[in-house]
Amino acid sequence: MTSFSTSPGTRDILPPDAGRWRAFQGIFEEVAATYGYRYLIPPMFEDLGVFLRLGEATDVVTKEMYDFEDKGGRRVALRPEQTASVCRAYAQHRPVPPWKVWYAGPNFRYEKPQQGRYRQFDQVGVELLGPCDPDADAEVIALAWEFYRRLGLRQITLSVNTLGDEGDLQRYTTVLQAYLESRVDELSEESRVTLTRNPLRVLDSKRPADAAVVAGAPRIVDQVGDAARSHFEGVLSVLGSLGVPYAVEDRLVRGLDYYRHTTFEFSSSALDAAHVAVGGGGRYDGLVEALGGPPTPGVGFALGLDRTLLACDAEACFPAPDPSVEVFIVDTTGGREATLLADELRKSRRSVDRAYEQRSMKSQMKLADRSGARIAIIVGTDEVAAGTIVLRSMETGEQRTVVRSEVVSEVASLLGGVA
Ligand code: AMP
Repeated sequence: MTSFSTSPGTRDILPPDAGRWRAFQGIFEEVAATYGYRYLIPPMFEDLGVFLRLGEATDVVTKEMYDFEDKGGRRVALRPEQTASVCRAYAQHRPVPPWKVWYAGPNFRYEKPQQGRYRQFDQVGVELLGPCDPDADAEVIALAWEFYRRLGLRQITLSVNTLGDEGDLQRYTTVLQAYLESRVDELSEESRVTLTRNPLRVLDSKRPADAAVVAGAPRIVDQVGDAARSHFEGVLSVLGSLGVPYAVEDRLVRGLDYYRHTTFEFSSSALDAAHVAVGGGGRYDGLVEALGGPPTPGVGFALGLDRTLLACDAEACFPAPDPSVEVFIVDTTGGREATLLADELRKSRRSVDRAYEQRSMKSQMKLADRSGARIAIIVGTDEVAAGTIVLRSMETGEQRTVVRSEVVSEVASLLGGVA
C-alpha cells in the first residue's frame, strides 16, 4: 500500500507542540495589543507581481518563490512573507493612517531544508504604516524586545543599522560595487555571481572565503546624509531611553530589497550559527507606493516562530502548556454514567476526559493518571444505586463519597472556581 509522509521542509506540528505554537501567538497578540496593534489576515497567495516588489534580485524572489499559474491563467505565488501583502492591503483599502496591524501565520520559501530552515515556516509580525518618525521605529523594536522578554528569552541580541534614504543607498551601492570589483578575485564563486546582480547582498555572505573582503568593505554610515543620520540617531536615542540594548552593526543589510533607513535583526546567542537570526525588520518607505498606493512610510518586523521556539528550547524557557484535563471519569458500569457526568461538568466549563470501550477499572485508573487530571470521579454499580459518586484526589489518593447531584459544586470545592 502507498504511504505518505510530509513533503521536504514541512512538518506536522503535533500536540503538545502545537499548543505551544498557539500560546506563542497568544502572547504575541497580548503584547501587540498593548502597543495598539490590531489583527490582520492577509491571503496565503497573491498576484506574483506583489512579491516581485520585494526585489527582483533577491533570493526570495529569484530562487525561492512558490509561484504557479492557476486554472484561470493568473500568475500567483504563495506568500514568502507578509509585509508586501500588508502594504498591498493598505494600497487597496486606504485605511486612515497611522495603521497598526499584526499578523501570524505560515509563509513559503523553496529553501534547502535543515534545522531551523523550512519551506513552510511561521512568522508573527507587525507593520506600522503612516508615520515616518524615529519614535515609530523604536516602538516597533521595543515591542519585539518586550515579546522576547515575555517568552523568557534572555540571550537575544539586537543589531541595528541605517541604510540611509533612497539617494544614500544608491550612492553606497555604487561605492560598494567599485570596491567589490576591485577585490573580485578574492571573492567566493557565489559572491561573484551575487555581485553582478546585487552588490549589497555580498555583505550578507557568511562564507569564510568572503570574510576578509566583507570586513574591509566601505561602511554605509559614511554615505548617509544628514536627514537619515538624524533619523537614525533619534531611533538609537529612544532605544536608549527605553532601556533596549542594541549594537550598531554597520554591515547589516537584510534579505529583502525594500528596506530604507532603519534595519534591525534579532539573534539568539543560544543557537548554532546556521540559524541564529530569530527575527528582523526595518523601515520600508516606498513599498506602499510601489504597490500602487499613496506615498506612505512604513516600519515593521517579522519574527520566525519555528526558530524562536528553538531558542526557547536552548534557553529552557516557554514550555508547551500543560495539556492535562481537570477531571477524569472512571465508570465501571458501561460508560453511560461517564457520558452524563462529563456532559454536566463540561457545561460548567470543566475540562473532563473519560475512558471508552468499557475498560477494566485498573486500565481506566491508568488512563486517569496519564490524563494529568487532579480529580478522578469513580462510579460503579453501588454508587449508581445510591445516587453517589466517589471523588478521588489524584495528588493525595484521598477519596470521599458525595451526592451525585452535587458534582459541579463538589468539584469546584476541590479545584476552585465557580460551582
Ligand atoms: P525575513 O522575512 O527573511 O526577514 O525573516 C525573518 C525571520 O523569519 C528570520 O529571522 C527567521 O527567524 C525566520 N525565517 C525566515 N526564513 C525562514 C525559513 N525558511 N525557515 C524558518 N524560519 C525562517
